[in-house]
Amino acid sequence: MFDALIVGAGPAGSTAARLLAQAGWSVALVEKTDFPRRKVCGEFISAPTMPVLEACGVAEAFVAAAGPPVTYIGLYAGQTMQSSPGEQVWGRALGREHLDTLLRDAAVRAGACLFQPAELMSLERTPDGYRCKLDNDIAIAARIVIAACGSWNGKGVFAAAAPESRPSDLFAFKAHFRHTALPDGLMPLLAFRGGYGGMVHTDDGRTSLSCCIRRDTLAHARSRHGGKAAEAVLAHIRAATAGVERALGGAQLSDSFLSTGPIRPGIRPRVRDGIFFTGNIAGEAHPVIAEGISMAIQSSGLLTRLLIAGRPQAYAAEWHRRFAPRIHAATLFAHLAMRDDTRAVSLAVVRRFPALLAWGARLSGKAPIST
Ligand SMILES: Cc1cc2nc3c(=O)[nH]c(=O)nc-3n(C[C@H](O)[C@H](O)[C@H](O)COP(=O)(O)OP(=O)(O)OC[C@H]3O[C@@H](n4cnc5c(N)ncnc54)[C@H](O)[C@@H]3O)c2cc1C
Repeated sequence: MFDALIVGAGPAGSTAARLLAQAGWSVALVEKTDFPRRKVCGEFISAPTMPVLEACGVAEAFVAAAGPPVTYIGLYAGQTMQSSPGEQVWGRALGREHLDTLLRDAAVRAGACLFQPAELMSLERTPDGYRCKLDNDIAIAARIVIAACGSWNGKGVFAAAAPESRPSDLFAFKAHFRHTALPDGLMPLLAFRGGYGGMVHTDDGRTSLSCCIRRDTLAHARSRHGGKAAEAVLAHIRAATAGVERALGGAQLSDSFLSTGPIRPGIRPRVRDGIFFTGNIAGEAHPVIAEGISMAIQSSGLLTRLLIAGRPQAYAAEWHRRFAPRIHAATLFAHLAMRDDTRAVSLAVVRRFPALLAWGARLSGKAPIST
């Protein structure tokens, strides 16, 4: 019997697996996809996550592989191209095909037993813990279970009711570009009708562009611009934001667009039926703040610290105190960005007080270090 079964080897799951395994726990880590794998994600990791990466023994490797430091938070919307004053290091970006492999390998090095590719198909309680079945018919018994299986989509072992589809549902897209004219050090938030996104220099000279767009806006963009969904979304964003048009003027798409959705930002139970939830499945912020990976890693840092200290009952409340305000801030920023009326007012205010960009970044959980 394992001390812990961890479902999902994304940032949340692999961080939990590494930290428990290096504390001497026997850990089973189950991941349904093959790595390396790309993922719909902007790839930015903010500076306050570095202590957890250090605790996992991967901070140096992360910095060596990641893109250049992000030193300015920006805003591209309509003709506005604004950036925060003052140069500070807010964080760095690393492609998910590299980051997730780095963290998973760190967990395995610490002794976690990896089942990959293997999908959790069923889970039942036993007198001394849990027994689960994987899709390859392997059965695993564990004292505790940690669900770290990503966005809640109403499917799978941990699902509640499947959500209904709505015009406001958000679909997410992401691609890498080469040879962009995005200014050095700048990470602009993209705000446009019916959606939002971000751009950042990531590893190997690439720039990532990721975004979320409402179902009804996507349909409108497709009828207006034609082509595949991702092409219509890109045309919609380029037409709506002069900054993106300028940055991508001479750029080349370096890999195909990825898409996913609808995504379901919100706060969900952190503990249910004795199972611990961490990362996106516990609470998902609108990606407008680019903090989901960081919160996934930080929430697993919190959970494992409390498990090792024998205080797991403190997890739900402590999680709420640390992460709920950031998720609420993300919801506010997402709505300010997507609606024409609130975006116009916000732009006028930010143009007058650009320091608000740094203030908003801090509200979302970012804390820069001086250069
Ligand atoms: C458009 C967009 C842009 C974003 N940009 C950023 C950004 O710049 N910075 C940032 O910090 N965050 C960003 N995010 C958010 C970030 O991607 C997520 O918050 C992060 O991936 C959550 O990590 P996680 O470990 O909780 O889940 P995931 O990364 O989704 O990992 C979950 C893993 O569990 C596995 N799994 C699921 N079910 C099972 C099962 N039954 N059995 C076995 N394995 C299973 C999956 O295959 C997956 O590998 C963005 C999101 C979107 C949509």
